[in-house]
Amino acid sequence: MSVEERLQDVRDKIAKAAEEAGREPDSVSLVAVSKTFDAEHIRPTIEAGQRVFGENRVQEAQGKWPALKAETPTIELHLIGPLQSNKAADAVAFFDVVETVDREKIAHALAEEVKQQGRSIRFYIQVNTGLEPQKAGIAPDDVAAFVALCRDELGMQIEGLMCIPPVDENPGPHFALLAKLAGENGLEKLSMGMSGDFETAIGFGATSVRVGSAIFGTR
Ligand SMILES: *Cc1c(COP(=O)(O)O)cnc(C)c1O
Repeated sequence: MSVEERLQDVRDKIAKAAEEAGREPDSVSLVAVSKTFDAEHIRPTIEAGQRVFGENRVQEAQGKWPALKAETPTIELHLIGPLQSNKAADAVAFFDVVETVDREKIAHALAEEVKQQGRSIRFYIQVNTGLEPQKAGIAPDDVAAFVALCRDELGMQIEGLMCIPPVDENPGPHFALLAKLAGENGLEKLSMGMSGDFETAIGFGATSVRVGSAIFGTR
């Protein structure tokens, strides 16, 4: 299958999963995860109408996206990878959405840059639903306090929550937990579900799914 065909296949599966969950197909947005793929691989998906893309490294994105954005200014870029404080300025200058706000230090750095640059960036808080020691994210019990810090104290535009469930576990309970935490904190958006489990995530209320290899192939 070509990249265009795989993209269409993912779109069809999203629509079907939404329908089965009694939701509108356009209530789920597709973030096409293009990390490690170069502009030539990405361009056919833009030509097929894809506009929202996810990258996990600031520097890699800065290298390949300016040319593509010059061709198609309506592209929206999401940072979905871990962020170092010394990259906060670049991230705020370059991305439209940062999905990986995962600790106080980075929240302060991002909020400061938003003020300095006058950019209106949207944010997601990454939640470590599986309490995995090696994984970034706020512990479920700390989400309420962290949302309050980011939204009320720092004035950040917090749109929703994001999670990456443990690879070796059934993702359903993690998606359910993320949805519950979002509801408790008055957040509407849920970024959850990847190539292997996006249909499940839609059943649990995902408003955006981050799909890479199912579209672009194995990395
Ligand atoms: C790479 C990545 C994805 C996409 O994973 P696939 O399994 O290729 O769909 C989604 N979310 C995050 C945070 C990623 O780093």
